[in-house]
Amino acid sequence: MRPLSEIKGLSPALRSQLGKLGITSAEALLLHLPLRYLDETRITAIRDLRLGEQTQVEGVVVHQEVSYKPRKALNVSLQDDTGILHLRFLHFYPSQIALMQPGQRLRVFGEVRGGFFGYEMVHPTQRKVSEETPVNQALTPVYPTTAGLSQNSLRKAVNLVLQPALLTETLPAWVYASLALPDFASSMHLLHQPSPDSPLPSLEDRSHPAWQRLAYDELLAQQLSMRQHYARRKRATAPAIADTHALADRLLAMLPFELTAAQQKVVKEIRQDLGQPYPMQRLLQGDVGSGKTIVACLAALQLIEHGWQVAMMAPTEILAEQHYKKLSSWLQPLGITLAWLTGSQPKREREQSLSMIANGEAMLAVGTHALFQDEVQFKQLGLAIVDEQHRFGVGQRLALRKKGATSGQATALEPHQLMMSATPIPRTLSMSYYADLDVSVIDELPPGRTPIVTKLVADDRREEILQRVYEACTQGHQAYWVCPLIEESEALQLQTANDTFAYMQKVFPTLKVGLVHGRMKPAEKQAVMQAFADNEIQLLVATTVIEVGVDVPNASLMVIEHAERMGLSQLHQLRGRVGRGAAKSTCILLYSKQQCSQIGRQRLKVIYESNDGFAIAQADLHIRGPGELLGTRQSGVPMLKIADLERDEHLLDAAKPVAEKLLQTDPAAVSAHLQRWLSQAEEWIKV
Ligand code: ADP
Ligand code: MG
Repeated sequence: MRPLSEIKGLSPALRSQLGKLGITSAEALLLHLPLRYLDETRITAIRDLRLGEQTQVEGVVVHQEVSYKPRKALNVSLQDDTGILHLRFLHFYPSQIALMQPGQRLRVFGEVRGGFFGYEMVHPTQRKVSEETPVNQALTPVYPTTAGLSQNSLRKAVNLVLQPALLTETLPAWVYASLALPDFASSMHLLHQPSPDSPLPSLEDRSHPAWQRLAYDELLAQQLSMRQHYARRKRATAPAIADTHALADRLLAMLPFELTAAQQKVVKEIRQDLGQPYPMQRLLQGDVGSGKTIVACLAALQLIEHGWQVAMMAPTEILAEQHYKKLSSWLQPLGITLAWLTGSQPKREREQSLSMIANGEAMLAVGTHALFQDEVQFKQLGLAIVDEQHRFGVGQRLALRKKGATSGQATALEPHQLMMSATPIPRTLSMSYYADLDVSVIDELPPGRTPIVTKLVADDRREEILQRVYEACTQGHQAYWVCPLIEESEALQLQTANDTFAYMQKVFPTLKVGLVHGRMKPAEKQAVMQAFADNEIQLLVATTVIEVGVDVPNASLMVIEHAERMGLSQLHQLRGRVGRGAAKSTCILLYSKQQCSQIGRQRLKVIYESNDGFAIAQADLHIRGPGELLGTRQSGVPMLKIADLERDEHLLDAAKPVAEKLLQTDPAAVSAHLQRWLSQAEEWIKV
């Protein structure tokens, strides 16, 4: 890395301003790439201007005035041989009044708009010229910048570092030549100083080979780094658990169902991993209801059979509680002791759990985030299972990994990790941001599920829907009524839930109505969920706390209010709470016609048309970009700055095998490439 202080001609003031953009090295400055480009290489005749066009005009000022109505503005008329263009400035300096005096020749650049007097430009850039001033020879790059740092200073600074010594090639030619991409130096020259004949559209949409080269470099760096993490993990030590499964077989014999073929396949993959002497890091993906819990349980049994403890973590108390109950009902008949741990349990109960975990009496500990805390000491933890992994941060997973290190032992052992997620990860994401993990997919639902019917209903038809809820509940079914998400205020959300609950009790005096929300005491929550599971409550008014994992098969109707405000994966998760039994299930999405945004509309269309979690996740990626889907994972993983997973999928495909090959054959290229690209990203994954 070359610090900016070593770059001749860069003033300390400019250096400190670049620092504000996070740019402290020449390499980082080079990779500070333009957002867009202005074409100041041409001058357009005023007669030929087109609405919406970004363009440059040259003319002589024929009139200038400051008007005060409707608000203060500087108005300037610019004339060339073909017509007059109006310039308008709502903020302006005395120096601009002085510059744009009648008679002065100017070049202005801006967007052509329709104004009161014909075409105009609002706040164009303006420059004093004479008839002899040559036009620019390159397209003008526009950089992301910060207050006080002008585009001109940025361009000058970039110009200082655009030198051969800093533009060395990191990759062997076969890598980029096979994709018909240019070398690094010429790509950088082109992007920072494109010649006038460079095609502006492909520079702007980044499909130009120079952009593609950089996107490829970035994706390749990500692949290399992820593969290195992968390799590092294989050098760590974990307990190798023999693939015997007497306990699992006993449980399977007791279950009222058979595993689906997809479940059997992933069970096999996990068993193989557990037999290795290095830690498993496997992501188990399966749509809502695909039966991940039993798969996790079978994995746990393999550890328990050999005397190792297992931790299972869920993101909410409701879900943790449900897992605890389900797993207890499966494991207690096998003589296995479980411990239960949450942040809110009574002190005595908690201390008892902690001691059972520490002395090894409890072979399986189920709980929430509480399991991460320092005071939780396992006797010998061999496997950590994380349900709904996208809800957990990288740091939490790391904390858990450390719990495997038994003190006093010669080598620190890491526990195996099984992460589960019902938010499917589109192919491009699992190939990039998740490339350090192994992935198993349950791509089949258990038999006998009837598909959920989804209805979109405008909220002026609430009465009808209420009638429907009543009918379902009086016919022995159960229903969820999900209250709207109110992001701005948790208090307001709570109030809405309380109001809805009161309202439902009033309109349905003969039904048993329940309420569950995030602010209730865990014991209250559990009591309500239990009553719902036992069919003592017919209609459950809920906030989105029921979004993850809750399993009450008899519930077959769900109404979601203001569905337009919710994210796609959230809607899909919520909807997955019904359709879990044999009865035909319906999910009604109530939306507000007035408040539905463009994105809201797009989302509703997707969720209405598809029941397939993968298709929905793909659409989500398209609508929102990767940030949404990555969830908390993004806090530990570098975000791609140049590459776009959708646009550049072909480059990602190409980068994967090349990364493998480079790692095996060209360590010098790997380290040069990672040095250039990794030092830009502070946030590289540390797990
Ligand atoms: P998810 O993958 O969403 O976590 P669960 O593990 O909660 O799904 O399973 C959903 C329901 O399906 C549970 O009631 C579970 O016991 C049941 N189940 C799991 N596997 C099967 C199977 N192979 N056949 C029938 N039912 C199953
Ligand atoms: Mg689940």
